[in-house]
Amino acid sequence: MPHVTCPTCSAPTPWQGNTHRPFCSLSCRLIDLGGWLDERYRVPAETPDEPPPPDDDDVS
Ligand SMILES: [Zn+2]
Repeated sequence: MPHVTCPTCSAPTPWQGNTHRPFCSLSCRLIDLGGWLDERYRVPAETPDEPPPPDDDDVS
């Protein structure tokens, strides 16, 4: 039976019948997902913190 290596804990994990493949368990799956989301939604700190221009003066 083929085995894969869990990307989170590097444990040898059976491929067939594994609901959480390529992870060995739900915990490792969530850990990897959490890290991925953290990378994705990380806001770059180089954005200048300036207020939006006032555009409500010419509303007639
Ligand atoms: Zn694992």
